[in-house]
Amino acid sequence: MQAFTEAIRPVAEQIARTAQALAASPIWQDLADFANSPEGRAYIEAVECGEIEPDPPSCHCWCQVSHKPQQGICEHAAVHKLVRVSPTVGQVNIPVCGPCRDAQMAEAR
Ligand SMILES: [Zn+2]
Ligand SMILES: [Zn+2]
Repeated sequence: MQAFTEAIRPVAEQIARTAQALAASPIWQDLADFANSPEGRAYIEAVECGEIEPDPPSCHCWCQVSHKPQQGICEHAAVHKLVRVSPTVGQVNIPVCGPCRDAQMAEAR
């Protein structure tokens, strides 16, 4: 048992150092601040309840159709919602990324 403890000590110390470095990094601090804020708690609860997806929604733009002249601009992570009114399903919100939204706006003009 003694030998085992000796063997894992460097690993444990490395993990402790990594954890400290992580805790000291500004990104982690931002994340911790967010998690402790009312908005953060609400967000986490919503994620846990399955109300929202933890990852940003992906772009649902039909690039080949919506902005034919501009292909390959899609960033895939949706940051905007385009509201479209469909005759069959009514109003729908389509998650789109920034470049796709701009391209669609330009096309719609
Ligand atoms: Zn697109
Ligand atoms: Zn896109």
